[in-house]
Amino acid sequence: SWSAVPAGPPDPILGVTEAFKADKDPRKINLGVGAYRDENGKPYILGSVKKAEELLTSSKPDKEYLPITGLPEFTKKAALLAYGADSEPLKQGAVAVTQSISGTGALRIGGAFLARHYPHSKVIYLPVPSWGNHTPIFRDSGLEVRGYRYFDKKTVGLDFEGLKADLLAAPEQAIVLLHACAHNPTGIDPTPEQWQIISDIVKERKLFPFFDMAYQGFASGSTSQDAFAVRHFVSQGHQIALAQSFAKNMGLYGERVGAFSLTTADPEEKARVDSQLKIIIRPMYSNPPLHGARIANAILGDKALYSQWEGEVKGMADRIISMREKLYSTLTHDLKTPGEWGHIKNQIGMFSFTGLTPPQTKALAEKAHVYMTGDGRISMAGLNSSNIEYFAESVNAAVRG
Ligand code: PMP
Repeated sequence: SWSAVPAGPPDPILGVTEAFKADKDPRKINLGVGAYRDENGKPYILGSVKKAEELLTSSKPDKEYLPITGLPEFTKKAALLAYGADSEPLKQGAVAVTQSISGTGALRIGGAFLARHYPHSKVIYLPVPSWGNHTPIFRDSGLEVRGYRYFDKKTVGLDFEGLKADLLAAPEQAIVLLHACAHNPTGIDPTPEQWQIISDIVKERKLFPFFDMAYQGFASGSTSQDAFAVRHFVSQGHQIALAQSFAKNMGLYGERVGAFSLTTADPEEKARVDSQLKIIIRPMYSNPPLHGARIANAILGDKALYSQWEGEVKGMADRIISMREKLYSTLTHDLKTPGEWGHIKNQIGMFSFTGLTPPQTKALAEKAHVYMTGDGRISMAGLNSSNIEYFAESVNAAVRG
């Protein structure tokens, strides 16, 4: 039956991990994976998560099915975390929200909802580059994927002129995907002033903004600061779609905790949208997993756990920021590595687009046992005080050729 099925290409990011695992050198470093690592290079379970799990275990909860749209207490708190207590649509009861299989599932529900119910366009614009999974998610949802300029190779910064020109040239009412903060893979975010201009263009062109917020708290260390773009758009009267993930900010990667929401005109419209979200979700996976949503709900709903969590998110963000500073100063001041490295310090979130070329990344893997994606993206979280000097020296050697 399957003799005509062609072998598909391997996943580019998982391929990096395979090569890393096969390498036996003790100095090896994996900077491909998008998961936080602690100062010892180990996966990190947040203290607030451990406590929430202890509380859950002792309360001996049942294992019944959740409703189709998930744990209602959790989705309410997730929306509050993103939109903020002052959000008008939230106060009016006009935000339709459903639990999702982490951020990926939220994007997929959103894509499917827009493909089925957004009457004005089937075209979605993604930044170039964007997270590698965005294109297949939206294509498989039934949307047509196009790109808008985002990254400027020359400055290793934001191509804001290109971005504005492309959004202004987009057909009216097209959908535009925006990374709410900590853009993956570039680590480059618009400034608050630039977000205001983007909001004006989106309004002028009547574009539909779809925010992907996979790193709330991870960029600046503050969940409200990282929600600036989402809250600004909502305050400007935009109706938005929003995908949220708790993989990074709570370290709940494998628990698959997320939420998808749409702001609507009023509670009556919200109820109709809710009913259609259920119709999309029911035949996909019936209802979402329970455990992770309970953990997130416990943290978001308890004052002490919440403030512990905020401190832990900030701790992760700060450790990454300190690695950026250390890497920058080692390359620039200690090793005098040719080139401009300021972007490493200025970029935001888990990743840095280093500007290393494919031959340089290949040399780093083969000669130094340092693994990253072929586009030169590194996960800053994979660096720590034990490996950062070796990494900087290896980069220095690769750049000097
Ligand atoms: N969006 C972006 C931009 C991401 O980087 C990620 C994680 N790599 C996701 C969404 C979704 O991740 P998850 O499904 O694990 O929440």
